[in-house]
Amino acid sequence: MNAPAVTPIRTRIAPSPTGFLHLGTARTALYSWAYARHHGGQFVLRIEDTDVARSTQDSVDQILASMQWLGLDYDEGPVYQMQRLDRYQAVAEQLIQDGKAYRCYATPEELEAMKAGQEARGEKRRYDGRWRPEAGKTLPSAPPGVASVIRFKNPSDGDVVWQDLVKGEIRISNREIDDLILVRADGVPTYNFAVVVDDWDMRISHVFRGDEHINNTPWQINLFQALGAPLPQYGHMPVILGDDGQKLSKRRGAVSVTAYEQAGYLPEAMLNYLARLGWSHGDDEIFSREQFVAWFDGSHLSKSPAQWDPAKLEWVNGQHMKSASADRLAALIAPRLAARGLVMPSSAPLEAQCELFKDRCSTLEALAEWLVAYYGEVTLADDLRTQHLTDSIRPAVRALALALNDAEWTAAGVAAAFKAVLAGHGLKMPQLAIPVRVAVFGKTQTPAIDQCLALFDRKILMGRLQSI
Ligand code: GLU
Repeated sequence: MNAPAVTPIRTRIAPSPTGFLHLGTARTALYSWAYARHHGGQFVLRIEDTDVARSTQDSVDQILASMQWLGLDYDEGPVYQMQRLDRYQAVAEQLIQDGKAYRCYATPEELEAMKAGQEARGEKRRYDGRWRPEAGKTLPSAPPGVASVIRFKNPSDGDVVWQDLVKGEIRISNREIDDLILVRADGVPTYNFAVVVDDWDMRISHVFRGDEHINNTPWQINLFQALGAPLPQYGHMPVILGDDGQKLSKRRGAVSVTAYEQAGYLPEAMLNYLARLGWSHGDDEIFSREQFVAWFDGSHLSKSPAQWDPAKLEWVNGQHMKSASADRLAALIAPRLAARGLVMPSSAPLEAQCELFKDRCSTLEALAEWLVAYYGEVTLADDLRTQHLTDSIRPAVRALALALNDAEWTAAGVAAAFKAVLAGHGLKMPQLAIPVRVAVFGKTQTPAIDQCLALFDRKILMGRLQSI
């Protein structure tokens, strides 16, 4: 589908504010956003807050923050459905006037009894059309004191067929679906009705969403047709599976964008990983936001479920860490160090430290953990201490501390101090470098030791070497 059928291209994401931005919704948002950007169209944010009991402002705020973090900028919105109740009511009334919707006075108890009867007879549970007007049918008069709902007069036969942008042709018989409630007794529209009115009013040309909505789409298409509104094209994305092969769920680890932000993932890496989860561009695994937008034309979307792979996400993040600039990383790391209660002097060479360690870190948190050595305490594992900080090496480490006192404070100066101590104690580089790494970082491997040490505050470093 390289040639889009409807112009201008307008896409939307329509999260329900009942929690954080879920990874699945984030991926749908990403595809919708990129599709609009690729085609020079518009991307709209709509907040589907009609589930009043479960929607919260806090969730709205989290969703907006995650969208911003991912860089999914929208051209319109956020539009809140609960601010559009009058519009839904007016459209529903119009449908009643046109004979395409009707009031239903069946009480919840009556409907329960109806469904129980259907179940007992082994039939599918569905609304039996008792208030549906038909030619030659006499309806009872409205019972007093019963609040009505408004139902859609769904076509009773024929098939609803659409060319799904992801799954190809989908056909669902109208006999499978009943007369949908459009507006509940309290005046709040149902999801399927509000979505149609909104997608129509917002002139949405392409709807990408999760395939859990496939069964809703026939109702929506029938409603569009009843309204005489132009149909958007639909693309239903397969679910994201967790490593247990089940739908990605909270029980199996983090499912919100926020959690990954907190864990130290870069937004461009998250975008890269989410994009690849259900879409491909040849063998390209690592790409930028700009490349993704340039490549994403809605083709090469996968029909089969994608599997969430934390190790791959970490690898992708590591690749983006490598190419991130040191000043950007420093700005991202500073609050993470502050959150650990560490105070950095304004002269701290944080950028140089980020540059030196970023290649070995797959997340910002991992990088922050390394840099703790420069600003805080390092805890030494007992086995490392016994193995590497032996009585025989201690004099050489202390001699190094002293030599560093007079060294020129550069990597070359530190290297010269090392050289002098190695010569004086008859040692080879690793014999001293490894104990120093352990003493200073609590690790046996680090980037080049002279570069690592030259980025310390001289007094702190000397203190640490002397105290072993
Ligand atoms: N509020 C719905 C959801 O979060 C939106 C579905 C749609 O895009 O139509 O699943």
